[in-house]
Amino acid sequence: MQTLSHSFRFCPRCAAPNPEIKEERCLVCLHCDLTFYFNTAAAAGAFILYEDQVILCERARDPKKGLIDIPGGFIEPGETVEEGLRREIYEEIHVDVGPLHYLGSAPNFYPYRDVPYQTADLFFVAPLASLEGLKAQDDVASIKRINPFSFNPADFAFDSTRLGFEYLLRHLVIFEDK
Ligand SMILES: [Zn+2]
Repeated sequence: MQTLSHSFRFCPRCAAPNPEIKEERCLVCLHCDLTFYFNTAAAAGAFILYEDQVILCERARDPKKGLIDIPGGFIEPGETVEEGLRREIYEEIHVDVGPLHYLGSAPNFYPYRDVPYQTADLFFVAPLASLEGLKAQDDVASIKRINPFSFNPADFAFDSTRLGFEYLLRHLVIFEDK
């Protein structure tokens, strides 16, 4: 698999060519002795529930334009995962959600402009009290409200979201049994 380390042909510090690739996740420069790790990036997504529906998004941009995703994105430096997720939700669908409940995580591979990023995706579920303000913006083309038990997970853009969706269904079944 093409990894992030294969995307760099020069040392990011001294610009010496062809740094050595070690273990697919770090570059070692034989010229200035830099070891540069490509650490996994943290990303978070939310299954937002309004009544008996989950709010899903059609992706407006590549990668996977037109496929189904959930609100979320990369966590920025200095943010908690919850802060970053709330920021992304507001940027993408213009609402503030209720308490975030952690469901689980899944590794993901996010190819952006031919550069492959490895991420750790963290999934949450959160209630939405009202549809007021809800609108598709930023990298969301349209919003879909679907009963999670009638949604086909094959329509998700990413495998990690499918795994997150399994966590959600498990959570909802347990929740409904109580
Ligand atoms: Zn160097």
